[in-house]
Amino acid sequence: MSNTSYPDISRAKSAELFEKAKQYFPGGVNSPVRAFKSVYGTPLFIERGDKAHIWDADGNEFVDFCCSWGPLILGHNNAQVREAVTAQLGKGLSFGAPTALENELAELILSNNKYLEKIRFVSSGTEAVMSAIRLARGYTKRDKIVKFEGCYHGHSDSLLVKAGSGLVTFGETSSAGVPKSFADETIVIALNDEKALQTVFEQFKDQIAAVIIEGIPANNGLLIQTKAYINFLRQITKDNGALLIFDEVITGFRLGFEGAAAYYDIQPDIITYGKIIGGGMPVGAYGASKELMSCISPDGNVYQAGTLSGNPVAMSAGIAALNILAQPDFYTSLAATTATFVQAIQEYTEQHGYELNIPTIGSIFWFAFTTNTEIRRADQIDPASMEKYKVMHRELLNRGIYMGPSGYEVGFISAAHTEEDLEKAKKAIFESLDIVFG
Ligand SMILES: *Cc1c(COP(=O)(O)O)cnc(C)c1O
Repeated sequence: MSNTSYPDISRAKSAELFEKAKQYFPGGVNSPVRAFKSVYGTPLFIERGDKAHIWDADGNEFVDFCCSWGPLILGHNNAQVREAVTAQLGKGLSFGAPTALENELAELILSNNKYLEKIRFVSSGTEAVMSAIRLARGYTKRDKIVKFEGCYHGHSDSLLVKAGSGLVTFGETSSAGVPKSFADETIVIALNDEKALQTVFEQFKDQIAAVIIEGIPANNGLLIQTKAYINFLRQITKDNGALLIFDEVITGFRLGFEGAAAYYDIQPDIITYGKIIGGGMPVGAYGASKELMSCISPDGNVYQAGTLSGNPVAMSAGIAALNILAQPDFYTSLAATTATFVQAIQEYTEQHGYELNIPTIGSIFWFAFTTNTEIRRADQIDPASMEKYKVMHRELLNRGIYMGPSGYEVGFISAAHTEEDLEKAKKAIFESLDIVFG
């Protein structure tokens, strides 16, 4: 045991940049979680990344397990992605007209995914989900949607809702500026609760357009659902004429080309993508059967558009990335690396009697400061345990390991993480845990 804290890394430049940023942006950031509100210190301003490493404005180097919140499954500055993007840059940034690149990326996606027949590209996960909801409403001619507490689906109005009290409740807005009348169309229930689903469909018979769930909920801890539950969800939606939307913005191309749909072997009605699909550039997509997608304009009357949708530079990054991911054994090898890494940490915590459980799937892992090994619902997470993560996060940064700045965030391992990177991380994690539990 070495339970002495390391000295804090220098953040002088980051702090200076942050002060300036606060003059320009609310909270000094362009996306709230980046503000480091849940951990110690000012946010680090990142200057560059290469493979699994990032460097901040003060020259500190880190092994990165945030990976831009998931998109960078190949790590930073991947040579093939960089070359594809560079080649496209010389041909133009945007035309607002179709390009062959869109066909190429679509073919890569559709020919490797038996759960989809047609897709539409957009520019973010939020946009993909927002469009999927509109499609579900347009197709079913119903208005209500059901979401789960602990699942994040981007920041569109219908989805910025949280559960009220009670088994089945209309959502309460989780952001100012969302009209109550919008939140009234969204019903929020707990994950892993068949009774709640049954009650929803009894209470709102013939009113529910869709139920939306994260393929594997990974935005509020990693809440891996059972196959039995997801099967039940599939059946009850089908029986009630409601669509099932799998939000695979994280799990898509993370667990494999067929994401969580293949993990459960379930046919969702609509699937949404983001993050990895653009190889690090802003791309999202939603897809479904030909029949459902024929409702989308210009074929159908569900309107959805985008000036920069299918952007050629972003498409070229996505194509380069997905071509690498499509290689045999890519996913099995990355999952095996992750499993070995997590197992070593789990063994260490068991040997020392530390209250830490590490749910993992594919190349995703989460530090859950609990002994509960079957954590499947948001209300099973003890908010007080986040204090432990806060300490761990500081100790890890001081040892050159960069994790998401909140204990609710999962970690990602990329194909660029080397044995050496992971050994360094393990040692840092062991030492940090000694301090957390010391
Ligand atoms: C990140 C995420 C979103 C939102 O995507 P953005 O690109 O940030 O708009 C939606 N759903 C899930 C499951 C996500 O993880």
